[in-house]
Order: sequence, then C-alpha cells, then structure tokens
Amino acid sequence: MNPWIAKAVILAAMVVLVGIRAPHGARSRTVKVLKNRRGPLETILLILAWLGFLVPLIWIMSPLLSFADYPLRMTTLLGGVASLVAGLWLFQRSHAHLGTNWSVTLQVREHHRLVTDGVYQHIRHPMYTALFLYSLGQLLALPNWVAGPSYLVTFGILFAFRIRAEERMMLEEFSADYAAYMARTKRLVPRVW
Ligand code: SAH
Repeated sequence: MNPWIAKAVILAAMVVLVGIRAPHGARSRTVKVLKNRRGPLETILLILAWLGFLVPLIWIMSPLLSFADYPLRMTTLLGGVASLVAGLWLFQRSHAHLGTNWSVTLQVREHHRLVTDGVYQHIRHPMYTALFLYSLGQLLALPNWVAGPSYLVTFGILFAFRIRAEERMMLEEFSADYAAYMARTKRLVPRVW
C-alpha cells in the first residue's frame, strides 16, 4: 500500500490531538497552581515524550528515517486507525471531564476537585489509557521501525516514572476519598489493571 495513506492518517491524528489539547493548555495557564511536584526528571521525561510524539513529522516530511521503512499492510493500517480514533475520543472525553483540574504535569490547582465520574468512573487514568491507545495506533499505522514506536516508548517511560508519584500526590490531597476511589477502580483498563 502507498505509505502516503499512513502519512495522511498520522498527520490528521496529530492535528486532532493537538487541537483537543490546545484550549486546555491555554486555559490551564490561567488557573493558579497550589502544589507542584514537577522535578527535573519529570521535565526531562515530558520533553522526551513530546519528541516521541513529533518524530512522525520527520518521517512524513523527510527521507531521514526511510532506512527503517517496511511495507504497509491494510490490516495493520485499519487496526491503527481504530486505535487512533478510540484514543482521540477518550482523550477528548477525559479532558472534558477533568476540566480545570488538568495539568500537563503533577500539580494541584486552585479549587481542585476529585473527578470520579464519566470516563473516570471505572479507571483512574483514562487520559493515559487514551495516550496508550493513540501510541498503539501510531505503531500500527506507521510502517517505520523508528517513527512507529517512538511515542509508545517515550510516553511509556513517562508513565512508568509518573504513575506512583501522581497517585501519592492525589492520596495526600484527597486522602480517604482518593483511597476509596482507588479501591473501586483500576488504573488503565476497566476490571483488569
Ligand atoms: N492521570 C489522569 C490525569 C492526567 S493529567 C488521567 O490519566 O486521566 C494529570 C493531573 O491530573 C494530575 O497532576 C492531577 O492533578 C490531576 N488528576 C489526576 N486524576 C484526577 C482526578 N481523578 N480528579 C481530579 N484531578 C485529577
């Protein structure tokens, strides 16, 4: 199959993801931060994750990564598109539910409220589930051994270092309420983990 199809799919997905995030990013700058847990490691991992997200642009716009290309298959492309669409849907829903409680890093905001409804009802981290679905979609839809897995790897590293610290911060902030929420929910996949 012509790799231009994959290029168009990935570019559209990137634009949609940035488009969903942009208004929340702009608004979050206006909400006062009360507690900040962003250390140097978190900053490095955030930059790494952004770079991982942007690597497909190199593949789309230049021949630099062509040494790692492999043939595009219809089945993996379709699986990738399904995963990208599911990820983008969940990303939009989790942003809408978190509202002003969202931060790109580990922070407690002014008037921070514990969100436990909507897509937060069965899992505690739907936005991370969304980004894993998105990165899995990128892996499947993008026929290149470097640009395909770039976001899955870099976001996976950020997630691995962040998840316990985030839950610790939420426990400190919302104590018994968050403990009860943890007891009745899973992290990423409903009823599984
Ligand atoms: N881990 C969540 C949120 C990611 S954004 C998810 O994947 O959906 C990260 C910020 O969201 C954290 O700094 C924390 O302040 C906030 N947060 C995480 N879970 C929350 C919840 N259930 N209610 C309110 N804020 C939450």
